[in-house]
Amino acid sequence: MNTEQSSIWHERAKQVIIGGVNSPSRSFKAVGGESPITISKAQGAYLYDVDGNRYIDYLAAYGPIIAGHAHPHIVEQVNLAMSEGSLYGTPTPYETLFAERLQAVIPELERIRFVNSGTEAMMSVIRVARAYTGRSKILKFAGCYHGHADLVLVAAGSGPSSLGVPDSAGVPASVAEEVVTIPYNDVSALEAVFAARENEFSCILIEPVVGNFGIVTPDDGFLEAVRLVATQYGALLIYDEVITAFRFRFGAVQYNAVEPDLMALGKIIGGGLPIGAYGGKQAIMEQVSPLGPAYQAGTLAGNPLSMRAGMACLDVLMQPGTYEALAKKADILTKEIHAAANTYGIPHTINRYGGAFTLFFGERPVRTYQDAVHTDGKQFASFFHAMLRRNVCLAPSKYEAWFLTIAHSDDDIAHTVTAVQESMRELQSL
Ligand code: PMP
Repeated sequence: MNTEQSSIWHERAKQVIIGGVNSPSRSFKAVGGESPITISKAQGAYLYDVDGNRYIDYLAAYGPIIAGHAHPHIVEQVNLAMSEGSLYGTPTPYETLFAERLQAVIPELERIRFVNSGTEAMMSVIRVARAYTGRSKILKFAGCYHGHADLVLVAAGSGPSSLGVPDSAGVPASVAEEVVTIPYNDVSALEAVFAARENEFSCILIEPVVGNFGIVTPDDGFLEAVRLVATQYGALLIYDEVITAFRFRFGAVQYNAVEPDLMALGKIIGGGLPIGAYGGKQAIMEQVSPLGPAYQAGTLAGNPLSMRAGMACLDVLMQPGTYEALAKKADILTKEIHAAANTYGIPHTINRYGGAFTLFFGERPVRTYQDAVHTDGKQFASFFHAMLRRNVCLAPSKYEAWFLTIAHSDDDIAHTVTAVQESMRELQSL
């Protein structure tokens, strides 16, 4: 496969964009590659690079592209929105309409505020929790990524982990001291830390299904235990649904029955356009300005393009059977991956939830970040490149997920299975 033009573009990008990428996860550093593929077009399940190669896409832009690229309904709505002006700096019906529709599918969102990214959503929701409780400490779980705000860039999962910078330079020690991190799925650590610090925590941040050290589901009873401890000690429970919202169902309460106090959303809800949102209990959200003292604002927040793209994406996802179909495709694919890995004697573990999964190289179950750290990154890198040479694009990190989209066809899955079989055979001979 010729990727010469991608390399040329990357070299050119490096002269103007720091590191040649606008988000570090996009570099191929974690998989030992010189330059990433440079994509100039995408349609349905496919990415097209600047050399004219076509890839079946399981990266899905790190999650948002659940409907496939350039879905006609989303394109139509965005074009319409654009033709009517992209930003007004005033309230617009589209933000209210979208908020109403979000609330209809996620009733826990009693009040909502739109922002522009998952990072902003998390940053803002933490501020609200601190304002409401009058406390400053936060509890998070190792390996869960909650965006790149100072406070949450501690033991922060996929991107930072892949690049070996678990704690970023430039985050003051005084900020990091506000954050306590414990392992996911560890009820004893949770109880111990609250017993020791009693009423210091403003909130517990959690991905209700982890997407940032691979797909990891909570053990039975884990989220219930988290809820119980939060309530007992007066801390707010915050779901980070930036990956999960609209991915497995609309909101996590639909499949785990544990209610958070607040939540942050992003990615898919924007239908591929920039977005973030946070919300939850009305009494807590009343902290937010202009009603309350917690300030949060945004020039581009609630812009009609993102609102209408989000509603169009929701239209698509509300078609009956969407989530069942995504799960079925992922089920078929993971069974075939499992079989191919077994055929060639490659130790592996697959964590799947609905239409997303992670293939880890290593035999041990992955329930915590440390489990994920101990999986084989070198083997993942070899597999990643072997798949890319066969026109299948995965996320370039062992900590990420494969995301199925509505656009993946049976033929795409069949081609992927063949690529997996050949790649596994290649790994065996290394
Ligand atoms: N929270 C989670 C769970 C995420 O996965 C991400 C992004 N990967 C974020 C927050 C930050 O979102 P954004 O990149 O839109 O700022």
